[in-house]
Amino acid sequence: MRTQVEGGRRSHREVARWADVTDAEWNDWRWQVANRITTVEQLAEVIPLSDAEIGDIRECLKTFRMAVTPYYASLIDPHDPGCPIRLQSVPSRAEATRGQDDPVDPLYEETDSPVPGITHRYPDRVLFIVTDQCSMYCRHCTRRRLAGQTDRAPTRAQLEERLDYVRRTPRVRDVVLSGGDAFLVSDSLVEYLLKELRAIPHVEIIRLATRTPVVLPQRITSELCRVIRKYHPVYVNTHFNHPRELTDAATEACARLADAGIPIGNQTVLLRGVNDCPVVMRRLVHGLLKARVRPYYLYQCDLSRGIEHFRTSTARGVEIIEYLRGHTSGLAVPTYCIDGPGGAGKIPVGPEYVLSRSPERLVLRNYEGVICAYREPPTPHSEGERCPTCGGFHEELASGVGAVLAGRAPFLEPGELERAGRRRTEHKDC
Ligand SMILES: *Cc1c(COP(=O)(O)O)cnc(C)c1O
Ligand code: SF4
Repeated sequence: MRTQVEGGRRSHREVARWADVTDAEWNDWRWQVANRITTVEQLAEVIPLSDAEIGDIRECLKTFRMAVTPYYASLIDPHDPGCPIRLQSVPSRAEATRGQDDPVDPLYEETDSPVPGITHRYPDRVLFIVTDQCSMYCRHCTRRRLAGQTDRAPTRAQLEERLDYVRRTPRVRDVVLSGGDAFLVSDSLVEYLLKELRAIPHVEIIRLATRTPVVLPQRITSELCRVIRKYHPVYVNTHFNHPRELTDAATEACARLADAGIPIGNQTVLLRGVNDCPVVMRRLVHGLLKARVRPYYLYQCDLSRGIEHFRTSTARGVEIIEYLRGHTSGLAVPTYCIDGPGGAGKIPVGPEYVLSRSPERLVLRNYEGVICAYREPPTPHSEGERCPTCGGFHEELASGVGAVLAGRAPFLEPGELERAGRRRTEHKDC
C-alpha cells in the first residue's frame, strides 16, 4: 500500500526552485497564481521526470495547457508516479487518446445557454460563468473547452448581460457562480456580482463553485470571507478528490469559510487510480466532515476529450456508495450521479434498496442485507381532489415526469420517434 502523509506537505524550502521564497510570498494567493508551473522545465525542478515523461508532457501540452500552483505541486510525492496529486495535475500521454465518443462539450452547456456564459438547464437555477480561469488546470477537467481558454475574467459588459438574464428571469431563485473558478477574480469583482445578484428580489440563494480551498487555499482570505458574509445566504461548493488534499492549509481555509457562516459542500469526481476505492473514499468523506465540509455529489467521470483514462465503471461508484450508506454517518454519503450526455443533467444512480412492491407493501433491504416490509397506508385522497396537505392541485410540479405522475399526461415521448414517421393520422382519443 502506498504510504501517504496526510495533513502534511514538503516545506517549499526543500525544493530548490522555491528555496528563497519567503513565507509571506508563499502565503499570498497572487504570488501563487503568478508563479504557477506551466512548463515542463519548471516541473522538472519540482519532481524528478524521466526523458520519456518529459517527451509525453511536451506532446500533451500541444493540446492541453498545464498550470499547477506551487502549493499544490508541493503536495506531490516526488517518488510516487501514482501519487493522486500528481495524477490530477501533471499531464500524461493518455490525454492524447480519444475515446470513441468524446465530445468537446459533453454536457451541452453551450446549447442550453440563453446568453453566453449562462447555462439554464433546470427550471429554477442557472450556472453563471464568472471567469474561465482556474488556478490549477485539473487533468480530468470536463470543461476543457472553456477552462483556461483566455485565462482572464470576462468584461463588465459580458457580465452585465449575464446579470440581466437573471434579472429578467423570475424563475431563477438559485444562481451558481462558476467558471473556471469563481474565486479566481478580485474580491471587488466577487463583491460586485454578489451585490448585484442580492439586489434581485427573486434570487434566494447564491452558490460559488471553486477549487481554491484544495489547490490554492491562500485565496480564502479573511477579507474575502468578510465580503461574502454580507450577502448571505451564500454557499460554497468545492472539489476535494483525495484525503491527501486535506492539508492543514486546506482545512484552515475551510474553517475561515465556515466561520463566516458559509455552508461548504464538496463535489468529488470518481477518478481511476485516484479515488475509485471504497477505502480512499471513506477516508475522504470522513476527513471532509471533520473540516466542516459536507460531501454533496460524487460524479461519474464525463465523456470528455482527453480524460478517457480517468473513467471507471459505474459499478465502482455504486459499490463505493454501498460501502458508505448505513455503514457510516448519513452526512458523509454524497449523491452519486452521472451528468447525462446531451444536457440530461445530473441523474442519481446507486445501489437498489427496493426489492419489490405490491399495493399493500414495499419490500426493502438495508445495508446489512436485512429484508423488511413497509406496509402502505390507505390512499389518502383520490386523483382530481385537492391535496389534503396543501389544499392545492400541484400544478406547479406537473412538468416532465411529474406531469405523468400527476395524471396530466398519459405518456411522454421523444420528439424524434421512428414509429411516429409511420403514423398516417394524429392519434385521437375520442
Ligand atoms: C449542476 C448544475 C446545476 C446545479 O445543480 P444542483 O443539483 O442544484 O446542485 C445547475 N445548472 C447546471 C447546468 C448544472 O450543471
Ligand atoms: S477547477 Fe474545475 S473548471 Fe477548473 S480545471 Fe479543475 S475541474 Fe476544470
